Amino acid sequence: MSFTAQLPTRVTIREVGLRDGLQSVATIVPTAAKLEWLRDAYDAGQRDIEVSSFVPPRLMPQLADAEEVLAFAQTLPGLRASVLVPNLKGAQRALDAHAHSMLVPLSASHAHSLANLRKAPDDVIAEIGRIRAERDSRASRTELEVGISTAFGCTIQGRVDPQEVVRVVKAVLDAGADRIGLADTVGYADPRQVTELFEAVLPVAGERLHCGHFHDTRGLALANVYAALQLGITCFDASIAGIGGCPHAPGASGNVATEDLAYMFASMNIETGQDFDKLIALRGKVAEWLKGEALHGNVWRAGLPKSMLQEALA
Ligand code: ZN
Repeated sequence: MSFTAQLPTRVTIREVGLRDGLQSVATIVPTAAKLEWLRDAYDAGQRDIEVSSFVPPRLMPQLADAEEVLAFAQTLPGLRASVLVPNLKGAQRALDAHAHSMLVPLSASHAHSLANLRKAPDDVIAEIGRIRAERDSRASRTELEVGISTAFGCTIQGRVDPQEVVRVVKAVLDAGADRIGLADTVGYADPRQVTELFEAVLPVAGERLHCGHFHDTRGLALANVYAALQLGITCFDASIAGIGGCPHAPGASGNVATEDLAYMFASMNIETGQDFDKLIALRGKVAEWLKGEALHGNVWRAGLPKSMLQEALA
């Protein structure tokens, strides 16, 4: 069997711009524009979208309309709408709203965890256990996914020990998470590191290792996606126009741009279900809504290569 025959034929790009992206820009996008964004994203073929975050509105006024945005997302047939929940309180809101999926962030870096969540990783793991118990007590079908952030390094403590990541993954799964993802929150990862960490986590998590979340802070996001893809990972987070920069490096690019990822997969004949032209049109609207904010990504400037356009017409 040739090497490329082992690559998946279909992958999911989960859009995180409406949460990960918007939470790190100062501009507050009006609810009506978010609903238009969701409608256009859906029309562009996106079926997996992180729509908001159930954090206290006073902490994150950009996402104060989470319930309304989620309710609209739930009117779009076949759309998997996920919400970030930082704790049991947030999870109760997600369960009340019957979200498809709730995403709990857990920092593998002890220092980052204390700085961001004011809790040590093991306290977050205990909270995940309480969230699972709450879900079970309601017989809810909302999926519980945990995103292991700073899995490849952290701006505060620097190196994060891969063995600590493996330990945390085990504990999170024991506490009742359905799925986990590994996140390079600050853009420290390189493809070799991605291969090694995913190879270390796969024997523990198996199919429950669901998603890769890569930032393009230092230009390696696509290479890192490819490294994970080679190990059979078929879900990747991305944000339109690459919004969601690094809070510790102002102006630096953040999440890998959805349109760049969609282009790479299309070029490799790997299906994503996403329409490139519609993504670029949506990118234009996002640029209007976020006037003055830094946008990223590469493909939108150049457009598709002629070879791909010819293929599309053939
Ligand atoms: Zn991110």
